[in-house]
Amino acid sequence: MASKSDELVFLPLGGSNEIGMNFNLYGFGPPHDRRWIVVDLGVTFGDQTTPGVEVILPDPAFIAEYADKILGIVLTHAHEDHLGAVAWLWPRLKAPVYATPFTAFLLREKLREADLLDQVEIHEVPLGGEIDLGPFHLELITLTHSIPEPNGLAIKTPLGTVLHTGDWKIDPEPLLGAVTDQDAIRKLGDEGVLAMVCDSTNVFVEGVAGSEAQVRDALVPLIGQMTRKVAVACFASNVARMDSVARAAEANGRRVCLVGRSMHRMAAAARSVGLMQGLQPFLTEQEANALPESGVLYLCTGSQGEPRAALARIADGAHPHVSLGAGDACIFSSRVIPGNEIPIRNLQNGLADRGVRLYTERDHPGIHVSGHPCRDELAEMYRWARPQIAVPTHGERRHLLEHLAFARDLQVPQQVAPRNGDMVRLAPGRAEIVDEVPSGRLYVDGGVLTPENGEALRERRHAAHNGMVAVSIVLDKRGRVIVGPEIRALGLPTEDDDELDEVLDELADAAEKALARLSGGDRDLDDTVETAISRAVKKASQRIWGRRPVVETTVLRV
Ligand SMILES: [Zn+2]
Ligand SMILES: [Zn+2]
Repeated sequence: MASKSDELVFLPLGGSNEIGMNFNLYGFGPPHDRRWIVVDLGVTFGDQTTPGVEVILPDPAFIAEYADKILGIVLTHAHEDHLGAVAWLWPRLKAPVYATPFTAFLLREKLREADLLDQVEIHEVPLGGEIDLGPFHLELITLTHSIPEPNGLAIKTPLGTVLHTGDWKIDPEPLLGAVTDQDAIRKLGDEGVLAMVCDSTNVFVEGVAGSEAQVRDALVPLIGQMTRKVAVACFASNVARMDSVARAAEANGRRVCLVGRSMHRMAAAARSVGLMQGLQPFLTEQEANALPESGVLYLCTGSQGEPRAALARIADGAHPHVSLGAGDACIFSSRVIPGNEIPIRNLQNGLADRGVRLYTERDHPGIHVSGHPCRDELAEMYRWARPQIAVPTHGERRHLLEHLAFARDLQVPQQVAPRNGDMVRLAPGRAEIVDEVPSGRLYVDGGVLTPENGEALRERRHAAHNGMVAVSIVLDKRGRVIVGPEIRALGLPTEDDDELDEVLDELADAAEKALARLSGGDRDLDDTVETAISRAVKKASQRIWGRRPVVETTVLRV
């Protein structure tokens, strides 16, 4: 029973301005005393704008304040954008974690690496299982996606039921795992769905995403045409795809060799839940080398051009055991994730340069299908669930707004598209944004969690663009120069050594003059001297190069 002051709220802290780092909160209770559940806790990845930062997390500061009110962290599936942040942020949230067996297997591995396995209470929930968390009663609904065990959540509360879809599509032949449990969704619809919080990734794409079975059907004849070595790149987490590639290889008399750590990790996770059975054992890289070229298929990580992944090393000729050359084939059973265009292009150019023939989704449309719902599938889901409120998530702003318009066209009575940090009251009354809480991103920078655009990264970015000048000077106690100023310029161009000497002299001159301008008393203060010199050297650099490098001045006293 709900009391009069109870409210049901939805609060995305990630995943609602961008694709990635899904971090959703549901709150129940009076505004001053809510109980919370967390649905998913994922990461996103850095790019050229975040040098040295590979992993980006949602900022949990708001909910960490209420950590004792979090009843549980529920993971819908094992993709990094849904579970990758658990090992980083769990110490700030400290709630029990709920996941189905495949997801739990991968989570345990991550927690073991982070030395947290003993501390985190993990509840393994069967597919189609239920979870009771205070006012929240959750039922897992089996969906289809591009990883084993994707779950939607029916979140039942005294103020109504929310269908939180997680990532999904409607795959009539997912190959591994069950088909979408549409009966369960229809039944929820019959009982009444207050709100559906739904995947927006492919809202701009007409039709349907297509089935894993189609991919298998396309791969068998394609691989059959090949006479030399074949490499296939796909996401390791797409176990159905790995399985299809392996079966397509065997159908053509080829043995499979997994290349890349995450391929092995996912294969182990898949076997732990009884998937990928009835295949010949995978070969080691050395065993594969002993076979004729027409007898082997390499299943590789690195379809997104990740620089340290297997395929990038093969393209560089830097892989210790696997090489591809003239006449060999590389099939990209994957799509280009927005943002990865440049590394993928570099990777493909590298392979092409070796004479490797490339097969991509663009020229061979059957070799990849998306894991997210296109417009026909979204419409179907709305027909099944019939929610009162549509809440788009898992997309950039343009996806969410398009999804909102789509739901309006489907006659969903209310639609609301919160940004990260917008708290939506779903009940009672009309759905509306009632509060805005702090949200943002944290960077994993050299193993340290830092605020987005923190000092270290700002400085690194600045140095990357503008170079760096280091000034050292030795003064006596009264501020008279004993040695220096010594100048070193890093990442700043000069035509030749003579010009370099001239430039360094000019900078040293600027430093000396800045020191000379200081009064006797100011020269006693290291900070004042450092600031004055740095400022003058920056100015001189501006004159010389037209840019302002990072300037670091060190004063030593003798
Ligand atoms: Zn996702
Ligand atoms: Zn996913």
